[in-house]
Amino acid sequence: MYLKSLTLKGFKSFASSTTLRLEPGITCVVGPNGSGKSNVVDALAWVMGEQGAKSLRGGKMEDVIFAGTSGRAPLGRAEVQLTIDNTDGALPIEYAEVTISRTMFRNGGSEYAINGQGCRLLDVQELLSDSGIGREMHVIVGQGQLDSILRATPEERRGFIEEAAGVLKHRKRKEKALRKLDACEGNLTRLGDLLGEIR
Ligand code: ATP
Repeated sequence: MYLKSLTLKGFKSFASSTTLRLEPGITCVVGPNGSGKSNVVDALAWVMGEQGAKSLRGGKMEDVIFAGTSGRAPLGRAEVQLTIDNTDGALPIEYAEVTISRTMFRNGGSEYAINGQGCRLLDVQELLSDSGIGREMHVIVGQGQLDSILRATPEERRGFIEEAAGVLKHRKRKEKALRKLDACEGNLTRLGDLLGEIR
């Protein structure tokens, strides 16, 4: 599995559609200060479902949409497409090539798609969660992030390891199932009370 291409359109400083084609192995992005190198990494995190505006170096999520320059009007939507080579079947989907896309409009809300089929954020997260590109995005190490990992508490560090090992997905599912079970028990108690009143 490797990242094959990334297309940005209306995302941060990339107003026009821009595609970066990547090869297996190491890719270096070079350019002057402020030319958009970090924006490329932000786009990668964003298309994989990043929900925190701060993680994307913005104040609010809308800040990912091209805000305009002196010569170009702001845009109404941001769009990123990430194509992953899946010939080794690392992603649990029967396609040799997987394209994940995310679109966001200025009036809020994000749309996701996997190979052109609209889907939920959860579907994108589940697709990626066993690949090491999980929802916590530990594969993207931003500037200054190493410090925060070194300063993490033992519990936080365990979280990083669980995420990398693919355990976190099952923990989240367990928590969700327990919450549902809890709600069912509440309903059963309520039902018992009602039956008691009727008898
Ligand atoms: P450095 O080498 O200094 O870290 P960089 O190449 O990583 O720089 P970025 O941080 O990726 O640069 O890009 C910063 C540029 O992106 C700034 O010029 C900023 O104005 C522009 N930018 C960020 N968000 C938007 C937006 N929503 N609309 C338009 N331009 C934006």
